[in-house]
Amino acid sequence: MIIESIHIKKNCIICISLLILIVFLSSTLIFYFSQKHLQSIEVNSDSEDDYIKWVDFTVPCNVLKLTSELDINSHNNNEEITYNWIELLAYLACIYGGNFKNFKSSDLNKIVENLKDGKTMEELTSTLTFYDYYLEAYSAVLSGFLGNYAIETINENNEKVFEKKYGLKAFSPIAKNYYFTHYKDFGNSRSYGFKRTHLGNDLMGSIGTPIIAVESGTVEQLGWNQYGGWRVGIRSFDGKRYYYYAHLRKDHPYVEGLEKGDTVKAGDVIGYLGMTGYSIKENVNNINVAHLHFGMQLIFDESQVDSPNEIWIDVYEIIEFLKTNTSEVYLSNEETKDYSRKYDLMEEFLTE
Ligand SMILES: [Zn+2]
Repeated sequence: MIIESIHIKKNCIICISLLILIVFLSSTLIFYFSQKHLQSIEVNSDSEDDYIKWVDFTVPCNVLKLTSELDINSHNNNEEITYNWIELLAYLACIYGGNFKNFKSSDLNKIVENLKDGKTMEELTSTLTFYDYYLEAYSAVLSGFLGNYAIETINENNEKVFEKKYGLKAFSPIAKNYYFTHYKDFGNSRSYGFKRTHLGNDLMGSIGTPIIAVESGTVEQLGWNQYGGWRVGIRSFDGKRYYYYAHLRKDHPYVEGLEKGDTVKAGDVIGYLGMTGYSIKENVNNINVAHLHFGMQLIFDESQVDSPNEIWIDVYEIIEFLKTNTSEVYLSNEETKDYSRKYDLMEEFLTE
């Protein structure tokens, strides 16, 4: 009898503790999910209308040059006022309503004079309604282009050394000493597949020309795509720019070992120019003229990725601008016939 009652008591205790445990666990779970739901609602309402939906990038190469030189020289010469080329461009965009066809160098000189006279950019732009828009839009386009970096060079003892610099650290997508032609083809109509417009710039060159990463970033897409053929998509570290390199070479499109998720540096060889694409079947040359299709997508909100609301900008003038910074390459692997960059680069955010 005594043994039996102890047994019942023991069972009861187990039952009660189990019940307490279940009540505790379920209330924790309910609390967790309700919080999560609240968070997601907050995120949604936050991002609903706050991000930029459209950018027309019309800044010509010569204006990119003028403003970047002001920025670079003021940094390197330790001038009293350091200019920010993106701020200067955003200011000019306000004057021209975003259309740089109206550019006059006297307008740029006037801003510079005002800054030299001690006015701040904040004061100068306080009445410009669209300044913040242009600043954010142009920052998304150009913020990876200028900055501190170290590049390998050959010193007087014929040794490779890193030289610290402030300047242009984005590269032309075509390797140094390789020839290419291009023209303003953004928005032209394309006939393959459904009716659509051309959302990039075609760089005509010879098959096998090494293709260079314009900016450092992460390989987000790699493989076959019906339109782009063998293509690679690289996202900048700040997430704002997606660089699209398409129609890469049949049989050997990418540099040996390049994989989705890899980090690449500006100036690295990533693949080779070709004429693949316009086919559901993989590894088919269906493009008439060998070229690199180079595209640049701006991402202000992740919902813009793979959606009808993608923002692709005209990169013709950017390509012209980047011609001044080309990455030299050499045949580094006789077996695989792969090329590598000759001079390495280090940037502040790259941990090395
Ligand atoms: Zn194209």
